[in-house]
Amino acid sequence: MYRSKLAASAALATVLTFNPGSLHAQTSALSAAVRVNDHSEPTLSFPAQERDTQRKLDELFARTGKRPNIVWLVVDDMGYGDPGCYGGGEAIGAATPNIDRLAREGLKLTSTYSQPTCTPTRSAMMLGRLPVRTGLTRPILAGDRVRVNPWAGETSVARILSDAGYHTVLTGKWHTGELNSMRPFEVGFDEFQGYYASQKELTQQVDARRYPDLVLDPDMATRIKTVGGKIDMYYGRKSEDERVVERTTSIEQFAEADQTLAKFTIDQIKRNARGEKPFFIAHNFMRVHADNHPSTAFRGKSTAKYPYKDNVVEVDALIGDIVAALDDAGIADNTFVFITSDNGPQLDAWPDGGYTPFRGAKGSPWEGAVRVPGIAYWKGVIKAGRESNGLFDLMDLFNTSIRFGGALDKIPTDRYIDGIDQASFLLADDGKSKREKVFIWVEQNLAAMRMYGYKIMTKVVQEQAQWLNIDMTTVSNVGLAPWLFNLYVDPKERYPVGHRMNAWLASMLAELKAEEATFKKYPPKAVGLEQ
Ligand code: CA
Repeated sequence: MYRSKLAASAALATVLTFNPGSLHAQTSALSAAVRVNDHSEPTLSFPAQERDTQRKLDELFARTGKRPNIVWLVVDDMGYGDPGCYGGGEAIGAATPNIDRLAREGLKLTSTYSQPTCTPTRSAMMLGRLPVRTGLTRPILAGDRVRVNPWAGETSVARILSDAGYHTVLTGKWHTGELNSMRPFEVGFDEFQGYYASQKELTQQVDARRYPDLVLDPDMATRIKTVGGKIDMYYGRKSEDERVVERTTSIEQFAEADQTLAKFTIDQIKRNARGEKPFFIAHNFMRVHADNHPSTAFRGKSTAKYPYKDNVVEVDALIGDIVAALDDAGIADNTFVFITSDNGPQLDAWPDGGYTPFRGAKGSPWEGAVRVPGIAYWKGVIKAGRESNGLFDLMDLFNTSIRFGGALDKIPTDRYIDGIDQASFLLADDGKSKREKVFIWVEQNLAAMRMYGYKIMTKVVQEQAQWLNIDMTTVSNVGLAPWLFNLYVDPKERYPVGHRMNAWLASMLAELKAEEATFKKYPPKAVGLEQ
């Protein structure tokens, strides 16, 4: 059963005025966001940019006669600091000219937030809901047995867009359930080609140098194949079963996976560009999650020469190829593209891991885990050269994409939706974010919240050995006061200003209480992934 994990001190609790009986209660003096109903996230209101955005969308529809295509390009475990436009690139041995160009020609977001790990982020993007609500609070791992299908009763962005007349495709990594009724083509995608697991789970079964105990011992090899799940590349269509497209037989063969997947997406773009239906493609790269093995064409292509760096260069090139395919098909001006990473770098795998300028890494509530690159590109629609520090949660892609599909009225109202329609933030020339707060959960714990430039922590994850941000950590309550950082002056979260310097501590605690209150009316699901 869900229980409050907040560690507010008794002294602070007395100043809270929040009434848990109603979600409409005034939360705090700091908040300007308005909650219009019990099941939607409160939003900031900017009527002029809403009108500007609707005008742009109406003009586009009048000209093209088609709803816009939607392409999500999701890299796995790429750090905020990896792309050149975020401070990395050639300076850290892996140039990213394509990502940098798209950032220059579109909108570069500097406060995009993911969940701390893969499965939670991917499910949240698909459902517009916090992982704790759906039960997908951590990756489903080899040998896991979920008690309840987390997808049962959920409505994905793919299903809503498919019902609204889109051709919906998922290419690449799924990682949100491979059992029956959990697969992409069973939860709303018309077509799927890719893998169910992450790179490491595949390489564990074929890489004898890194995992000799699993690969070279025949008994162990048999066992890992039994519990390790599916490692081949699959294709599946709605209303049909899956089939193997390519068996995963060796590292050398698997190294070409992202090349094959990019070809699949480019083929989909070519085929669907001339069709009557608009399309939604979620292209999820396998790389740059450990273990990285560059394809033959990219081995040694980075300045650094390390496999991770070669794979950053490879992903950048493939992003360039996919966007070029939109241009070649003449549909770039009617296609919304969003480039991001599903979480921060996995430093446990260093040097097979990425770079972040922030504290911590994948798995924690620190910025290093959850602040990711976010680039919105839409030729001729999103003004070139924009940059914004406005808050954007990757869950917002759920509502925003459905808005582009003209199907906002199809978002369920019988459950809590955490995503926000951010179309006007992304499309209006000087659009502002409608999101006031980002809540950061670590599995079942509401650990932190960012609000404007402030971040409050009530649970901390501390690594016990440098780099081991997942494998050797402790999770603990904070002490006498929550840890509160001003991210503008302390982006690395080194100096909590807590009760000494911040007037907003009680207000931010009230916001956390209000968030917890949403679970009273809409209880979370427990599917078997709880610790
Ligand atoms: Ca990931």
